[in-house]
Amino acid sequence: MELSNTWLWSRVTARVLTGSVGGYAGWWLGARMGYPVLTGLSAAAVALLSVTVLDTLKGYQLMDWLRTPDVDPPKLPGLWGEVAHRTHRVLRDREREILNERERLGQFLSAIEASPNGVMLLDATEHITWISTAAALHFGLHPVRDLAQRVTNLVRAPAFVQHLAHGDYAEPITFASQGGHTTLSVTIRAYGEGLKLVLSQDITERERSDTMRRDFVANVSHEIRTPLTVLSGFIETLVNLPLTDVERVRVLTLMTQQADRMQTLVSDLLMLAQIEGSPRPASDTWCRVSALMERIANDARGLSRDRHTLVFSVAPAERLVELAGVEGEWLSAMGNLVSNAVRYTPEGGSITVSWVTCPDGRGEFSVRDSGIGIDAEHLPRLTERFYRVDGSRSRDTGGTGLGLSIVKHVVQRHGGELRVSSEKGKGSTFTILVPSMRVRVRQG
Ligand code: ADP
Repeated sequence: MELSNTWLWSRVTARVLTGSVGGYAGWWLGARMGYPVLTGLSAAAVALLSVTVLDTLKGYQLMDWLRTPDVDPPKLPGLWGEVAHRTHRVLRDREREILNERERLGQFLSAIEASPNGVMLLDATEHITWISTAAALHFGLHPVRDLAQRVTNLVRAPAFVQHLAHGDYAEPITFASQGGHTTLSVTIRAYGEGLKLVLSQDITERERSDTMRRDFVANVSHEIRTPLTVLSGFIETLVNLPLTDVERVRVLTLMTQQADRMQTLVSDLLMLAQIEGSPRPASDTWCRVSALMERIANDARGLSRDRHTLVFSVAPAERLVELAGVEGEWLSAMGNLVSNAVRYTPEGGSITVSWVTCPDGRGEFSVRDSGIGIDAEHLPRLTERFYRVDGSRSRDTGGTGLGLSIVKHVVQRHGGELRVSSEKGKGSTFTILVPSMRVRVRQG
């Protein structure tokens, strides 16, 4: 108030002075011509008008600057200069605030973008007002081009459209998206005046592992139930029927076979669980390849009982080669491949097991058989748990359907690779490639 009074008085004083000086000059001139009053008043009016015009021009200059206030304000004297200075300061402060807000918004949006979950904002008429990159990916939308589009014109999954229209968003919904390749869990929350927040989450992997877990439990139960049913049938027979000694021995032999089958299954399951639950094998614990080969050869001979030609080849130069990792796991992986070769090769066939160290330092353990072979269509699924090409042959020969799954896990844990090549009716070759860092030649 004080300030405005100062401005008011100085401007009034300036105009009074200008009018007075002009009036006096006019009166003085007019007195010589005989019209002192008329010329005095006219000169005072002209002086005041000139001051007002000059003042208005300064105002215009200020208005002109306000059209593009990003340059410095004009340097004006007096009130207009002060107005320009203050306006400039207010605008600069506002601009700084806007920049700060923009930066905060940018950080907030970056945080949303960093989340693997998707966020989409819809207006009251279900048009997209903002969409995060993850949400755009989930729904198959374009984060810029699809803005301001009605979401139901673009996302046509019936479950989503119905849920959005329903208005009861208490529970999330799950539906297949992107042509059934992904499974989305979508939660909608209403806010403001009819606005909606759509949160999406890709649960494809979770669903897949849930299904795998369910299948696994069902498979294990099935595998255990079969020998159990047979065993309880035999027990009932033993309890209720008077058997001869020969019959009793036969029944007990069959019971032993079933019990063995269950035992093998349980030990394979335990092996898998142990492999999955233990840390990555050490790379400084070494075991000799020739010792492994010897043990595998003994097991294979016992299993084959001279029905096959078995060749185990480790070149003399390779006798000092050692492998790093868990010896029991290597033994199990290699043993499983050799046992498969024996079991899936008819009598009279041949099996060759070899170890070579490649020029690049990698180790190559391979098992080649002249057995029944495998159709190409089965090859990609061979290492899945309980996957069998011929279920009855596998079971008849004591297979659990877990052997190759164990091999794959062991090889992967040791950073290696399992390769399979096979032709139906001609035989198969299974190869384990061991990374060079896990192969060495023992010194001395
Ligand atoms: P199983 O206990 O049934 O042998 P595996 O996981 O070891 O289980 O093998 C999976 C399936 O792969 C087997 O059921 C069999 O059909 C096929 N298979 C594995 N090795 C061979 C082989 N050397 N020759 C032919 N088929 C094989």
